[in-house]
Amino acid sequence: MQNKSPEVHSACGDRLADAYRYPRVLYKGREVLFCTIDCLKQYQKDPEGFMHGDVIHTNSNKSTLIEDS
Ligand SMILES: [Zn+2]
Repeated sequence: MQNKSPEVHSACGDRLADAYRYPRVLYKGREVLFCTIDCLKQYQKDPEGFMHGDVIHTNSNKSTLIEDS
């Protein structure tokens, strides 16, 4: 029943089709993926906070909108 690449969710809640392309860590024994390296860095600063959704992460993967910084 599984002939396409499994779809997983990133720590940020995004759906990722090709999981192997994304950075990952082990969090409490399970694999957690990140949509970008930036997300991973945010996670590393505060793993607990990130996993509880307290960390606003920069998602540069989702859109190509002009950066307003
Ligand atoms: Zn993310």
